[in-house]
Amino acid sequence: MLKKTIIVALLLSISETVFCWGFFGHQKINNYAVFLLPPEMMAFYKPRIDYITKHAVDPDKRRYLVAEEGPRHYIDIDYYGHYPFTELPRKWDSAVAKYTLDTINSYGIVPWHVQIMLSRLTKAFKEKDEQRILKLSAEIGHYIADAHVPLHASMNHNGQLTNQQGIHGFWESRIPELLADKDWDFFVGKAMYIDNPGDFIWKRVLESAAAADTVLRAEKELSQTISEDQKFAFEQRNNVLVKQYSSLYTKAYDRLLNGMVERRMRDAIFAVASFWYTAWVNAGQPDLQTLSTSTTSEEQNLPFDTLNLEWQNKPVKGRSCE
Ligand SMILES: [Zn+2]
Repeated sequence: MLKKTIIVALLLSISETVFCWGFFGHQKINNYAVFLLPPEMMAFYKPRIDYITKHAVDPDKRRYLVAEEGPRHYIDIDYYGHYPFTELPRKWDSAVAKYTLDTINSYGIVPWHVQIMLSRLTKAFKEKDEQRILKLSAEIGHYIADAHVPLHASMNHNGQLTNQQGIHGFWESRIPELLADKDWDFFVGKAMYIDNPGDFIWKRVLESAAAADTVLRAEKELSQTISEDQKFAFEQRNNVLVKQYSSLYTKAYDRLLNGMVERRMRDAIFAVASFWYTAWVNAGQPDLQTLSTSTTSEEQNLPFDTLNLEWQNKPVKGRSCE
């Protein structure tokens, strides 16, 4: 009996480690994005798709190691007033001048960080630096995907203000893990050149912010129609039995959201491929068959093993997605 209790306790603690879009969602998004690329890029990305997929989650792992990492994944845009949040300047310098760097950092910087990552990726293409291209492609994919999550654009990011704790992982991990492989369609078409990346990513953030109310309201309504013991169940997650939102509750929530999670995932896939494509075009469409390999000493280049070790053993610095 004691042994059983210990096992259950262990499983519960495993189930609490939840990541933005989950490992599953981030990896799917980067993976599918590869298939939207034009042939000249596909010839480079496809043989390296395992790297692009696996490293989609490095930025979340880095949150256990680097304090500055946290704000790059979200923006609590409702702090700045009401939709469409015109109070908040979209240009970094103007936003910092108006609100101070501290404030901007503490409410999150994802739309700006995506643009920084785009210029880094463009530079890596210009320099034909294979390792940097791969690493930055994998990681910009992560931040773009995060910008598509409604609760990454809300101060009530885990339902903590409305007694809905857990809704963050419910929306972005539980739903896709249960439904994406079986029921969803990720045939998204082709990557497109983005004329104005700043406008593009702010538009996606505003869509996320506009959807956050629905995400919270729908779950609140649903929770009032279903009993607690139907809401949670012990079910398999990554081949482990864990207590989580039941399949019944998850499917009912997805129906109420009317395909929102699938739509945001498709939009994220399209955006990721389009940002990669835009970086390559802006770099002058370098021939990716002839690349060099180098490393730099930036914090982003921490060895993968160190990232994994810190992620497994340390608490997250700043906000987590739990
Ligand atoms: Zn994230």
